[in-house]
Amino acid sequence: MTLGIGVIGTGAIGQDHIRRVSRALSGGRIVALNDINADNARRAAQEWAPDAVICDTARDLVARPDVQAVMVTSWGGTHAEYVLDAIAAGKPVFCEKPLATNAADCLRIMEAEMARGRRLVQVGFNRRYDSGYLDLKAILDNGTIGDVLMVHAMHRNQRVGPNYKTEMAITDTLVHELDVHRWLLDDEYVSAQVIFPRRTSKALPHMRDPQIALLETKRGIRIDVEIFVNCQYGYDIQCAVVGELGQANLPDPPAVPVKTGETLSRHIMNDWKYRFIDAYDAEIQDFIDRASTGSPGGPDSWAGYAASVAADACVRAQESGRIEPIEMIAKPAFYSR
Ligand code: NAP
Repeated sequence: MTLGIGVIGTGAIGQDHIRRVSRALSGGRIVALNDINADNARRAAQEWAPDAVICDTARDLVARPDVQAVMVTSWGGTHAEYVLDAIAAGKPVFCEKPLATNAADCLRIMEAEMARGRRLVQVGFNRRYDSGYLDLKAILDNGTIGDVLMVHAMHRNQRVGPNYKTEMAITDTLVHELDVHRWLLDDEYVSAQVIFPRRTSKALPHMRDPQIALLETKRGIRIDVEIFVNCQYGYDIQCAVVGELGQANLPDPPAVPVKTGETLSRHIMNDWKYRFIDAYDAEIQDFIDRASTGSPGGPDSWAGYAASVAADACVRAQESGRIEPIEMIAKPAFYSR
């Protein structure tokens, strides 16, 4: 069986997922597209999915009988509404991060999913599919470095555009880190603080960059994450986990070391699309495979909610300058099975 997929939002990552479903992966077919800007959708169809129908509204797309699963890749502020539409229609839905832009909307999504009685949502936390993070998690889980004490992490982008605001360092960027560290450590956050080092002159005037988020978990592990989105030299993701017996690092993506002119160098990527291309492929293939059976796997709505609660606290911490508590509801049994 080939899974008929409808995609809402045909911007950068929407087009990339349309391409991978159409050209790189198996078991799925893009049958419908919607974007607030219909020309975007038409261009994406022309390039990657010429048979796809262009729908006037996202709701029309979700309602189509040939759309058996939905991918939401539009702007973050629209995610909750479209995910709720897909759940109401009983269709599996892959939602790019964030699941919603606040924890209250994530709660509405969980309530709707639980009322449906089966899992329908997969959240686009692609790092859980990255071989480097999976290897790192295996090292932590098998106790090689003993009990974890600290994590030093770093998220650097070459530069960001004028629409990127100070808060987006949390809601758009740190949100990946907020998911991946609770998954890596199998722990939950209790508090967050955000501090601002000296501002780079390379950031646009409206933006405070870099920032450092300081998180504490229930087990007392301290995590510092540098977010520096105008670092100039490339896209660079680092994670060093320190335990009682040693340290484990996220490996850099492979690159050929070049020696020439008395210099040893290695290329650094400049784009998330290529840095995590294998992880995106694995993530979307997993969605196709599991959604074809009726229920997706991977990061669930609870993961989307947990990241969102932590992100809300970090945004409060950006404004207050204080240590802000991170408080979640008790985990519903539905998300523990
Ligand atoms: P983008 O290039 O701006 O694309 C978003 C698309 O959604 C645009 O075509 C936009 O149209 C359209 N759109 C806006 N409002 C809409 C609405 N109400 N209904 C339907 N379409 C609408 O952004 P992007 O980089 O692809 O990001 C999209 C989402 O993916 C974001 O949530 C982002 O955080 C996430 N993302 C995740 C990763 C990852 O690593 N997992 C990487 C990149 C992005 P207009 O251009 O006309 O506004």
